[in-house]
Amino acid sequence: MSAEQLYIDPEACIGCAACMWECPVGAIHDEFDLPAHLEDYKEINAEYFVDNPLEVRDPMRTARRQLPEQRPQLRVAVVGSGPSGCYAVDQLSSITGVEVTLIDMLPTPYGLARSGVAPDHLATKGIAKMFAKIIRRPNVRCLFNIHVGVDITMAELRETHHAVILATGADTDRKLGIDGEDLAGSHSAREFVSWYNGHPDHAGLEPDLSAERVVIIGNGNVALDAARLLVAEPDALRASDMADHAVAALSTSAVREVVVVARRGVADAAYSASEFAALCQLDGVDVVAHPDEIGEDLAADAVAQSFTGRRKLDLARTLPPPETRASTRRIVFRYGLTPESIGGENRVESVTFRRTGADDSVSETLATGLVLRAIGYRSSPMPEVPFDDIAGTIAHDGGRIVADAGDGMYCVGWAKRGPSGVIGTNQVCAAETTEKLLADFRDGKLPEPAHATSHVDDLLAERGTMVVRHDQWLSIDAAELKSGQEAQRPRVKLVSVDDLLGTLNARL
Ligand code: NAP
Repeated sequence: MSAEQLYIDPEACIGCAACMWECPVGAIHDEFDLPAHLEDYKEINAEYFVDNPLEVRDPMRTARRQLPEQRPQLRVAVVGSGPSGCYAVDQLSSITGVEVTLIDMLPTPYGLARSGVAPDHLATKGIAKMFAKIIRRPNVRCLFNIHVGVDITMAELRETHHAVILATGADTDRKLGIDGEDLAGSHSAREFVSWYNGHPDHAGLEPDLSAERVVIIGNGNVALDAARLLVAEPDALRASDMADHAVAALSTSAVREVVVVARRGVADAAYSASEFAALCQLDGVDVVAHPDEIGEDLAADAVAQSFTGRRKLDLARTLPPPETRASTRRIVFRYGLTPESIGGENRVESVTFRRTGADDSVSETLATGLVLRAIGYRSSPMPEVPFDDIAGTIAHDGGRIVADAGDGMYCVGWAKRGPSGVIGTNQVCAAETTEKLLADFRDGKLPEPAHATSHVDDLLAERGTMVVRHDQWLSIDAAELKSGQEAQRPRVKLVSVDDLLGTLNARL
């Protein structure tokens, strides 16, 4: 599921069109019915198959999953309700006899689908409609606003469930390890994205938007999201579900230029070609690049000649040069510049880069008031859970947590495989983990829990913890949608835990 192209086997396809109706984000179109902005894909698909001739395989068939007759009940706790957690819940709760407890630290579910996906990508956010159908199943119990390790211990979860799946994502950042990284005005893209998406932990970030230029280090899809939103028109921001505070700040910001800087060349760009192509078509924004940085691509030949490498090069070659000034807002793509230091007295004033490779004696300093480090997320270790410090993930074997955590502990998503892939990647990732869990259960490796799941509720009640259950989440959701309707916006997000819980108190 990391591919940018979807292949439907013409031998196996019976043309029922169910995929078109089922795809929660409306991403599948007939070739004869492509929206105008996707017309290019006819040619792109044709070109893809020149390099990758069709290899018709038998349609993949998976055996229907079921519990063994002699052990018809399985209880699993899933910690984290983002995409990977939701896919794991889906795969398990669709089996008769399985009960799932879905836990999230926030009063709101869906993790990065709520606080990571760009607010103007409303179609992608439509995935939440599919997750909503999963978490309302009768054999799924939602316990939101519960912090595992604080409100309930891992041991208590394990005493009440046959297995625990950690879908805790990546809650911190990779480090650049250069001078000035921690100056005021230097933020990780994760913090910035969480800020504009109204994540309660970052709603108070207040990035300084008073300088004309922002520099983004790294050119993955997160960098592209941030760049696009930094130069978006206020109307486009209001049409998104961006948090109100961010709409207000970005609508009045002084930012007119975002420079997206990659250490490698165009063919090696971390962004996906489709996201880059969409960005190049932005109305009212000059998207420019330096022709000499595209011509001298640093990528190894194999990469530059690969399908995606060629496509990224072809797209970049269509960009006008930096002198272009057709609009008042611009995004400048730079390639082959390695960050060396972030400068400034008490706060960010500039970033210095050195040319990557042969020309490393050449350096360049860009003046700026705000630096976003979009170099990737990272998971932090959890107590009692083995951690692979090099990979920056939980230590596991295909989703089964290894070492002294013992049987019955599993992981999915970014906590398992690092910060990579798109939402759908989590489906395959979760399937690998849930297969292992079910095999362990069938093989008798998961002992019967010492207590019923109601023991968790008793413990939380004893501790006076405010639990947000499924119907209460629905009330929060309804309150946000109602405020959105009143403000003629898709949704007005509540951005503090107090305000989220306040909607429930108001209802009582
Ligand atoms: P990413 O795709 O891994 O990109 C990280 C960027 O940081 C790369 O350009 C990388 O350069 C650069 N980098 C890393 N270490 C660096 C260093 N020390 N100095 C300079 N540059 C450095 O990460 P991301 O953008 O955070 O995205 C995470 C995942 O979410 C990706 O799989 C992405 O596709 C996905 N996502 C998808 C969408 C979408 O589909 N619309 C939106 C957002 C995110 P190198 O390539 O040279 O290592």
